[in-house]
Amino acid sequence: FTVPKAINEPVKAYVPGSAEHTALISEYKKLLNQDPIEIPMYIGSELVKTNNKKPMSPPHDHKKVLGHFNYGDASHVNKAIEAALNARDQWANLPWEQRAAIFLKAADLLAGPFRNRMNAATMLAQSKNVMQAEIDAACELIDFFRFNVQYLTQIYKEQPESLPGMWNRLEYRPLEGFVFAVTPFNFTSIAANLCAAPAMMGNVIVWKPAESQMYSAQVIMEVFRAAGVPDGVINMISVEGSVAGDVIFKNKHLAGLHFTGSTGVFRHLWKEIGNNIENYRTYPRIVGETGGKDFVMVHKSANAAEVATALSRGAFEFQGQKCSAASRAYVPSNIWGDVKDILVNQVKSFKMGSPEDSSNFMNAVIDERAFDKIAGFIDYAKGQSDAEIIVGGSYDKSTGYFIDATVIVTTNPKFRTLSEEIFGPVLTIYVYPENQFEETLKLLDETSEYALTGSIISNDRYAIQVATKALENSAGNFYINDKPTGAVVGQQPFGGARGSGTNDKAGASMNLLRWVSARTIKETF
Ligand code: GLU
Repeated sequence: FTVPKAINEPVKAYVPGSAEHTALISEYKKLLNQDPIEIPMYIGSELVKTNNKKPMSPPHDHKKVLGHFNYGDASHVNKAIEAALNARDQWANLPWEQRAAIFLKAADLLAGPFRNRMNAATMLAQSKNVMQAEIDAACELIDFFRFNVQYLTQIYKEQPESLPGMWNRLEYRPLEGFVFAVTPFNFTSIAANLCAAPAMMGNVIVWKPAESQMYSAQVIMEVFRAAGVPDGVINMISVEGSVAGDVIFKNKHLAGLHFTGSTGVFRHLWKEIGNNIENYRTYPRIVGETGGKDFVMVHKSANAAEVATALSRGAFEFQGQKCSAASRAYVPSNIWGDVKDILVNQVKSFKMGSPEDSSNFMNAVIDERAFDKIAGFIDYAKGQSDAEIIVGGSYDKSTGYFIDATVIVTTNPKFRTLSEEIFGPVLTIYVYPENQFEETLKLLDETSEYALTGSIISNDRYAIQVATKALENSAGNFYINDKPTGAVVGQQPFGGARGSGTNDKAGASMNLLRWVSARTIKETF
């Protein structure tokens, strides 16, 4: 049960002008300027093309066409299920070392020969700057593979007691059927891990990536293939969500749903499974990470500069499109003046534009739908007498979906943008009377329909303890004196409860356990 000890993949610095920066940017330009590509569906051993092709463009330059992906229908969903089920027995019966070796190799391929391509594809597809791509598509993904292989051995080695005259053992079987992976645009690493985690436990997968991530999803598929994932174990399809759902949720062999995306979609899929519950051979495992309305709670003892930095980085990195992004903050009146000045200056200094230029702290939001929704929230705030936009507030979609980092300050603790998820670069701040710390904690908890991430910033130990207790159900990842983003695999297992998901913690044995169906064997001598 010994595997190479997992250590976090070091984040490369990519200093502009350095060889590693030049190599990555030249890969980016190569992908940008090559002839448009065509992405097939990967079903069993077949690379499937159809007559229905959808274009892909970089969010920061939406007139540029990078290529097309092939769009399928119900017949492709059926074929993908069939391919997965055909591959299942052989894959499930492969000794775990063989499966683990494939994902360790995938990690090495990403750390080496595939790193630039994976990062460049993520920069293009999701409009992530070099650093945001590196911490996602390279480091986090490599870490997911290496740490999960380590956690897998911990699961397999857990065995029950035996008394004289008997031998009890636990056999960790994969689920009986296939797992449906539905993945988001915002993290390449999450998309890959939602397939890889169940697959390394011996499961077979039908994968539906987000349409806006297809360009980097294909590179993930290429990494899986290069690492030796057998045909049929992970099948990638692109079809209308409702079409895929109609076929998949009616299939008797659905054994699991591994999901990251919006709360609304997750609830809908859960209901679909519920409606079909009598048709399944086994109860499907449902694992999902969904929305967030992540907070930064500030105590009157906090240092204003530290608060401003936690807010600006937590709210605006990757344009606020992390599930973990700080989207609301509660700041005491005694330090608000200083926090405001520093925050506004920091935000004004952020450059925005193409990810190719590393001096751009911010890039574009993912697509027109997201742009319109986020702009709608900004417009709403502009029209309200109990809110004020103190910095940002502009947007422009003429060449790319660019939205300014925007800070709204409200005097209304129930203001709409303090509770609704926006998933964009919009932070709402409520300034509370400095002597109402505990009341504000109560308010915060009561208004937390989601419970993904949150932070307390304080230099007072008692206040930290009070907040840690008062907010114990308001965030699955709770940070003391830091921003609420940037969980690292192996260090801060990630996930939340309430409206934010099933809290099965990505990159932890808790998640992998969901993908096994154990058999207890008792043998009597
Ligand atoms: N794990 C990421 C973080 O801690 C967020 C993941 C997500 O957006 O789903 O920032």
